[in-house]
Amino acid sequence: MDTKADVLVVGGGSAGLATAIRAAQHGAAVTLFEPRELGGTCVNRGCVPKKAMWLAAGLAEAQQLAVAVGFDIETGDLDWAKFITRREAYVARARTSYGDHLDALGVRVLRQPAHFVDAHTLRADGIDYRAPHVVLATGSRARTTRMPGGGLAIDSDGFFALQARPGRVGIIGGGYIAVELAGVLRALGAHVELISRSRLLAHFDADLGHALSALMQGQGIVHKQGCAVRGIGRRADGLWLDCADGELYGPYDRVISAIGRVPDVASLGVEHAGIALGEDGEVVTDKFENSSVPGVYALGDVNGKRALTPVAIAAGRKLADRLFGGEPDAHLDYACVPSVVFSHPPIGSVGCSEAAARERHGDEVRVHRARFTPMLWSLAGREGQTRMKLVCVGAEQRIIGLHGIGPGMDEMLQGFAVAVRMGARYADFLDTVAIHPTSAEEFVTMRQEPGS
Ligand code: NDP
Repeated sequence: MDTKADVLVVGGGSAGLATAIRAAQHGAAVTLFEPRELGGTCVNRGCVPKKAMWLAAGLAEAQQLAVAVGFDIETGDLDWAKFITRREAYVARARTSYGDHLDALGVRVLRQPAHFVDAHTLRADGIDYRAPHVVLATGSRARTTRMPGGGLAIDSDGFFALQARPGRVGIIGGGYIAVELAGVLRALGAHVELISRSRLLAHFDADLGHALSALMQGQGIVHKQGCAVRGIGRRADGLWLDCADGELYGPYDRVISAIGRVPDVASLGVEHAGIALGEDGEVVTDKFENSSVPGVYALGDVNGKRALTPVAIAAGRKLADRLFGGEPDAHLDYACVPSVVFSHPPIGSVGCSEAAARERHGDEVRVHRARFTPMLWSLAGREGQTRMKLVCVGAEQRIIGLHGIGPGMDEMLQGFAVAVRMGARYADFLDTVAIHPTSAEEFVTMRQEPGS
């Protein structure tokens, strides 16, 4: 067997697949190592099954709205097991299509873990493989804590393994995963308590986390902010959380820990290649995704830059274009990466938060806001307001941040992200004819707040 290749890719998730596919399309000989399922976290235990759950949760919500506006229907519970079967069949089809694509391109896929022997040699199942280029794309895993009883909690992998809907759920954390799972579980009928030590989505514009917390509480989610959980215990009636404020929260059937993810380099043996790691165990890379060792690169969650699937894919393609496509300067620009949180309702955000903009640009910042109740909510008599916000800078009011929470924000963001990336000004938005009646039109009709 030929154990030489042009590039060895470790990891068959979003970053690894994108790199392998683009490199093979450029004619490179590619060997990819993936001991688990192709598709990585996103396809198997992340974005894809999460979106399926979010869609189901949206249908549950739609039933209630339908009754409220006058439909003569009974609302019903989701047959969780039946839905999981459909969800997993969808995921399996995605996995198969990746396998077929790699086969068609002649990528050699080895279903074994690989570890470094030296910087350009990887060993898998006792065989050494060599290449001038090695791409690390091993992703991330859930962060664990050593708190007493920590093992009683499940993480997001555990959530996707649930075969039935838990009745009472305590969620630790206030980031993407915590708020997404809280929304899904509540909409599907669980009693949900969310325990966060900071405000929700602390890395986003502050308005979003505040608005989400209020909307969640309107849906019946209990949100305790400012609580650091210091232990988990089991009693006869279920699981309990012991918080630093002296309170006990519970009882729960399940506790979900969603306190971040950490780069997964555990089995790589990076010390054999002299690869530098950062404080959180991430492989340190420059803007071209070069690690500290020439010819070794790191992409996706493992480099700790921005743990988002589309970022991993874009960075992987750029790297392959640079190494094999004759584009020596190709690299991903990490500025202006749009991001959607699939909360209920969803959040969309691109660019700077208001606080970050004010810190950087001081008095040059102008902010425009809109708040309103979406039409369907109004028709159904549901309370709650969605919010939208533009953060602009300078005399020409260039838009450097665009944020929103509300129904449709997930689909709305992509087009606006193009405009922000292209340098749109507030005046460009006002000059754009609104589409009426929509929520999106608020972005092109919002007036500057007095004194902002
Ligand atoms: P996040 O980084 O989004 O949030 C971590 C949360 O855990 C924060 O609220 C943080 O609080 C809290 N936390 C950290 N340590 C502790 C602790 N010891 N005790 C209590 N709380 C703690 O992580 P997630 O796990 O939610 O998601 C991981 C990553 O996955 C995200 O960063 C994102 O990149 C990606 N992702 C993307 C999605 C999307 O695109 N829609 C969906 C899901 C995940 P504090 O603010 O105080 O630090």
